Amino acid sequence: LIEVKDLHKAFGDHEVLKGINTTISKGEVVAIIGPSGCGKSTFLRSLNMLEVPTSGSVLFEGVDITDKSVDINKTRQKIGMVFQQFNLFPNMTVKENIMLAPVKLQIMGSEDAEAKAEELLARIGLADKAEMYPDQLSGGQKQRIAIARSLAMNPDVMLFDEPTSALDPEMVGEVLSLMKDLAKSGMTMVVVTHEMGFAREVASRVVFINDGTIQEENAPEAFFADPKNPRLKDFLSKVL
Ligand code: ATP
Ligand code: MG
Repeated sequence: LIEVKDLHKAFGDHEVLKGINTTISKGEVVAIIGPSGCGKSTFLRSLNMLEVPTSGSVLFEGVDITDKSVDINKTRQKIGMVFQQFNLFPNMTVKENIMLAPVKLQIMGSEDAEAKAEELLARIGLADKAEMYPDQLSGGQKQRIAIARSLAMNPDVMLFDEPTSALDPEMVGEVLSLMKDLAKSGMTMVVVTHEMGFAREVASRVVFINDGTIQEENAPEAFFADPKNPRLKDFLSKVL
C-alpha cells in the first residue's frame, strides 16, 4: 500500500530523516516509537506530503506521490490523519464536522453523508452527541469524533500522531479501544505512540526510529522481548 524508499528530510541544515526504508502492507497496524525529536512526526507527515521530502520517494498504491505532477489532494482523500490536537471545527455540530469533507469534495451528497455520519456515530458510541458542538464534549469524545471524521472519507489507511497524548489519563482508554476496534476491522494503520501497551497488543509490527533512521522493526512479541539494538534497549528500559 505504501512504499518508502531512502526518504530524507532536512529543515535547513538540520537533517531529520536520514534514509528511511519501509513498506506498509494492506491490513497492517504499524506502531512507530522512538525518543522525542527523532523524526516520528516528520516521517508520518511525509506519508501524505504534509512534509515534502528532501529526497527519496513515497509510493502510495504504486504512485510516487513525491512527483510534483501527481494530484496530491486525490491521494490525501485516501489517507485519514488524526493528530494530538483534534482540530474539530468549533462552529459546527459533531454531525456537520463528520459530513463536511465528503460533501465539500463532492464524494457524497448531503443525505448520504448524513447517513454515513450517523452510522459512524453509532459505531463509536456517540450517536446522542450528533447535534452538539465540540466545546460540549470531553477530550476523549472529541478525539473519537476526529477519528470518525477521517473515516467518513472511507480512507485506505489511517495515520495517527500521538492521538492520546493530549488526553486526561481517564480518557486514553476509550480512544485506544476505538483504535483497537478499527484495527480488528482490517483498517491499515500507522500509529506514532507512546502507548507501549497498545503497540504490544494491537500492532502487527513495531518500528523504532532513532536519529532519523529505522534502527529496529519486528513483530511486537520479539520486539519487546528480545530487542537487539542497544539504543532500543536503553529506550525500552526508560519507557516500560
Ligand atoms: P516528539 O516525540 O516530541 O513528537 P518527533 O519524533 O515527532 O518528536 P519531529 O516532530 O518529527 O520529532 O521533529 C524532528 C526534528 O525536526 C526536531 O528536532 C524538530 O525540532 C525538527 N523540526 C520538525 N518540524 C520542523 C520545522 N517545520 N522546521 C524546522 N525544524 C523542524
Ligand atoms: Mg511528534
